[in-house]
Amino acid sequence: MVIGNSNPPSSPPRKSGAAKQYDFYKSVQDCLARGAAIAQIEPFVSTIVSQPKNELIVNFPVRMDSGEIRLFKGYRVQHNNLLGPFKGGMRYHAQVSLDDVKALAAMMTCKSSLFRLPFGGAKGGIKFDPYAVSKAELQRITRRFTHALGENIGPEYDIPAPDVGTGAQTMAWMMDTYSNMVGLAHKQMVKGVVTGKPVASGGTLGRQKATGQGLVFCVLEWAKDRGFRLEGATLLVQGFGNVGSNASVILAKLGVSTIAVGDHTGYMYNPEGFNAHKLQEYVASHGSIAGYPGGQPITRDQFFATKADIFAPCALENEVGEVEADMLNVKLVVEGANGPCDPHGEKVLRDKGIDVLPDVLANSGGVTVSYYEWVQNKRSESWSEEDVDARLETAMKRAYRDVVEMARSQKCELRSAAYAIALQRINAVYKEREIFP
Ligand code: NAD
Repeated sequence: MVIGNSNPPSSPPRKSGAAKQYDFYKSVQDCLARGAAIAQIEPFVSTIVSQPKNELIVNFPVRMDSGEIRLFKGYRVQHNNLLGPFKGGMRYHAQVSLDDVKALAAMMTCKSSLFRLPFGGAKGGIKFDPYAVSKAELQRITRRFTHALGENIGPEYDIPAPDVGTGAQTMAWMMDTYSNMVGLAHKQMVKGVVTGKPVASGGTLGRQKATGQGLVFCVLEWAKDRGFRLEGATLLVQGFGNVGSNASVILAKLGVSTIAVGDHTGYMYNPEGFNAHKLQEYVASHGSIAGYPGGQPITRDQFFATKADIFAPCALENEVGEVEADMLNVKLVVEGANGPCDPHGEKVLRDKGIDVLPDVLANSGGVTVSYYEWVQNKRSESWSEEDVDARLETAMKRAYRDVVEMARSQKCELRSAAYAIALQRINAVYKEREIFP
């Protein structure tokens, strides 16, 4: 969610341990392999899903405000489209790499399948710091990227959405650029080329908060299972962008108080609980939590060591390694981000008896409501927010129950169970259709 340029970091976040070194792509491949073994899928299906179908890299020039022409590197990885069009977010971040995008694309295939959506999986992005450019530059970068992707995206082929560093505005630019590339006669038919658009431009009510909302539906199910009372509980949120801030705001309505937050500029603590809504508004206008008056600055280590009931990592992958997991003093880790816990960190959490609601389950509210947006675009309809929320609630609860049941029957953790269900469905279709020719 990039809205304005952020303040300079007051205390830049420090990386603990070797967390960032962990190979994210390898950890997703390991998840696929574990899921495949549990679901006993055909070897040829395992072989197919072990690599993406297409890996596209585009280098495109953009005129910066200074007049200088800069070359940008964009990625689109299309992992699988057996169940429907490729689907997945676009990330703008200085650390975007092909392997990370491949990992995220494979996760998208599994999320779509787990949630029974008629989509496959994809992911993309551009390697640059979106906080370091102007809004006009951001628009030109987005339009040139969309143009460079050309026919490699499309409403029935590959449908991007927001991710880190992108948001509804980015999607409006992408959709507008694409619609100007398809000819006047088709212009009105291609709104569904991206999801996560602003409502006035064909987005759906409820999409902006959907990932956070879906995460909260999962937490509610977990609390019911554990007999845990959410009212009066405390929360740590890492990453206060789209996912983190909406999760915090929605949980606040259930009486859960966010007592520590962090983002790319630093970390903050407020034992009385932050006013999540006000902090969200502050981030929307300032670009980060830096300088927010309602909390005291703390270090990254202090953040991870803060005692609370729930920790929601909603920033980037590999943020929770052994060191961070060792420090955490919570009952539940609910993964708003993709791949926030590396395998070592996850093992420490398991050994400490901390429950983990895995990303492919907990953060799939976004792709689920993206599907609702795509359906509305196809039918030229607009659903009420209550309708969207009610459908999402049903979808999240059903997936949660499916995953818990698979984990129980296979005596495995929830992450492997989620991958197993996803691969089971893909396996069934490959067995029926086989491969061409
Ligand atoms: P966003 O850009 O809106 O927010 C990202 C947040 O992470 C920001 O607050 C940023 O300051 C923070 N951050 C970045 N680098 C950091 C660092 N090194 N340390 C601490 N904080 C850092 O992005 P988002 O859409 O909220 O996505 C967050 C995570 O959720 C990502 O892993 C993304 O893939 C995942 N996700 C997003 C959606 C969605 O619908 N947007 C859906 C599913 C999963």
